[in-house]
Amino acid sequence: MSSFKAVDLANPGVRTLSPYQAGKPIEEVERELGIKNIIKLASNENPLGLSRQVKAALQETLAGLARYPDANGFYLKSKLAAKHQVAANQITLGNGSNDVLELVARTYVSADHEVIFAQHAFVVYPLVTQAIGATGVAVPAKNYGHDLPAMLQAITPRTRMIFIANPNNPTGTFLTASELYEFLQQVPANVLVVLDEAYYEYVDEAERAPSIQWIAEFPNLVVCRTFSKAYGLAGLRAGYAVTHADVADYMNRVRQPFNMNSLSLKAAEVALDDVEYLAESIRLNQLGMAQLVEFCESKGLPYIPSHGNFLTIEVGDNAAKIYQQLLQAGVIVRPVAGYELPRHLRVSIGLKHENQAFIDAMSALL
Ligand SMILES: *Cc1c(COP(=O)(O)O)cnc(C)c1O
Repeated sequence: MSSFKAVDLANPGVRTLSPYQAGKPIEEVERELGIKNIIKLASNENPLGLSRQVKAALQETLAGLARYPDANGFYLKSKLAAKHQVAANQITLGNGSNDVLELVARTYVSADHEVIFAQHAFVVYPLVTQAIGATGVAVPAKNYGHDLPAMLQAITPRTRMIFIANPNNPTGTFLTASELYEFLQQVPANVLVVLDEAYYEYVDEAERAPSIQWIAEFPNLVVCRTFSKAYGLAGLRAGYAVTHADVADYMNRVRQPFNMNSLSLKAAEVALDDVEYLAESIRLNQLGMAQLVEFCESKGLPYIPSHGNFLTIEVGDNAAKIYQQLLQAGVIVRPVAGYELPRHLRVSIGLKHENQAFIDAMSALL
């Protein structure tokens, strides 16, 4: 029998794929360093925790968990359709928006295609592109953000998809509605533009792009949103895409029928109506952002102005060491060397005392 080598059997793009690096879990730091009371500011989670209304709804849902969930998420889609003033058949639900980002690529991109994204953009875009065996085209950033004219220039006859994160993670950079609109006008109709708006709710209301309304004009536009950030459901996994109905039709053929479970469906429905929780999330984020920005200014630490629920700070050449020292001090932040930002660390906005713990630990290191 010839020798077995998994690498030879893996799809070509998968052979050299590096796995997604998640923020370090609290339990892992406790286990490894033997310390308690860890503060995690590493995954842009909502520091408020689950809302009371969501908790109560989850309790009620437990009794029905022996049954399969609604494969079409009827109630959640109805709610989302009403909220966004679109038809329910324009919505594709996902096990988090990561699921939707992968789904749209698997539905529309094949190994012959090129996929464009920006340098420093969310790592899931190159990951899904490579897994499919397609060619990723990373366009150099401008001021840490998307250089839209350069991204237009990068379009070739082989381009099938462009990923844009707005605001972007891990840089927090933001494209205005008019910049995006002008860009969409110039993208050929046979190139899908996936606009990932995971941090949409944190953007000032006056600055938010009417992106979902644009779908009527640009049927090649895919808008992705999530319940993981401002809605506080990261652990449940709930996200969705709004698209032209025909685009959704094909995505829903590829989608696993039960990709959202009964708990995440219910939690997302309730979270959509919990306007007080959402408002409190946004308010808390503004205060926390001001707290961290003020700290950076007072210490002369450069940072990338952020429209998200995190701040990416240039701590210098020894960022990796500072990351480790912060861990020792019980504060988990996110190294971003993998995003070609080796001098930066990304800090999620937490509760006031959590932000202060980071500030104190960081101050001790400076
Ligand atoms: C956090 C994040 C998401 C959301 O991921 P989920 O799978 O919905 O938890 C999507 N895109 C970006 C850019 C993010 O930072």
